[in-house]
Amino acid sequence: MPKLSLPAKAQFELPEDVIYLDGNSLGALPKGSVEKATRTIQSEWGQQLIRAWNTAGWMDLPRQIGNKIAPLIGAAEGTVATGDTLSIKVFQALDAAIKMRPGRTKILSDTGNFPTDLYMAQGLLRSLDRGLELITVAPEAVEEAIDDDTAAVFLTEVDYRSGRRHDMMQITKTAHTHGAVMIWDLAHSAGAIPVHMTASNAEFAVGCTYKYLNGGPGAPAFIYARPDIAGQIDPMMSGWLGHDAPFEFEPDYRPALSTERLRIGTPAILQFAVLDHALEVWTQTSIDEVWENAIELSNLFIERVEDSCPDLTLATPRDPELRGSHVSFHFEQGYAAMQALIARGVIGDFRAPDIMRFGITPLYLGPEDIEAAADHIATVINDRLWDDPTFKTKNRVT
Ligand SMILES: *Cc1c(COP(=O)(O)O)cnc(C)c1O
Repeated sequence: MPKLSLPAKAQFELPEDVIYLDGNSLGALPKGSVEKATRTIQSEWGQQLIRAWNTAGWMDLPRQIGNKIAPLIGAAEGTVATGDTLSIKVFQALDAAIKMRPGRTKILSDTGNFPTDLYMAQGLLRSLDRGLELITVAPEAVEEAIDDDTAAVFLTEVDYRSGRRHDMMQITKTAHTHGAVMIWDLAHSAGAIPVHMTASNAEFAVGCTYKYLNGGPGAPAFIYARPDIAGQIDPMMSGWLGHDAPFEFEPDYRPALSTERLRIGTPAILQFAVLDHALEVWTQTSIDEVWENAIELSNLFIERVEDSCPDLTLATPRDPELRGSHVSFHFEQGYAAMQALIARGVIGDFRAPDIMRFGITPLYLGPEDIEAAADHIATVINDRLWDDPTFKTKNRVT
């Protein structure tokens, strides 16, 4: 039975007057992060200076963190490289996939994919200028659109707006039946739902660590490559830290033998240190336990909001197996309503055109938070508190 309140809650720093339902966009601050950052800055950078790459283990940090992320996505040790941002990892995975299928003409994605994923694909295809085409179809139509001209199928497992989840096993199987390479974006999966990269047999996965993994704004991204293909990848961005022996300073690029060849340049050590600290929570709980709790909390949230707010329409699948760890509702005045909620301390976010999005993060949310949030939502919607000009001016970040 899920416990509904994980002991991890006490390990996060959250403002007293806030119910935080946006951990799917920026995870909460783990307690001890400030101390960890201070130690890294003062005693490592300040005192050890350049020696810290060896003496403080900076050089090994990206690989160690890859090995802490690997079990959370069902991947084996040594298969996850970290660094850069997710957009860059998308670019690398797509380029590698295209090179693995010369002669094929299509990259297939869906219309629900996150814009940067599609933008990166468009930019890559423009610069390759080989007549490759990016095709986007409705999420439900992906499987039937895969054919023998498809070089790569490139999908985000959990839709950032609706929370709808693709069937990773089934779609990967169909992609492989047609000889296409499979790339999964796990931005809304890693740390949220159980993922089984090895079992899926997909070639690549990419993801970020500032959402459900609580690594802080701009925290390093990750990329998984299936071990049997990692050694065949021809990296487009052949940086020195993806070289087999960076400190040999050889004139020519020679890629590392593993997924490490997908690293590029010097890692952002301060962000890595904070992320390393954030990943410690996973020694006390498991992704299965977190997901079981997420199901209970999401069901409770849906039930409460639907009961009290007939004007909101559920945008997220009801079946937990078909969704990720956020719950969304359609509401025409969604932006203003979300601003009114935020003014009351209930923080979710808004995604155009009309989605009010609420992240369910059991690491630091319990049923009392969910119930209180639902009460606030009912007040804002039913008393039309959103109908106020101050809530209708759009900010840069929504
Ligand atoms: C959050 C998110 C991104 C963000 O990419 P960055 O390079 O980290 O800004 C990309 N893709 C998906 C699917 C996301 O959810």
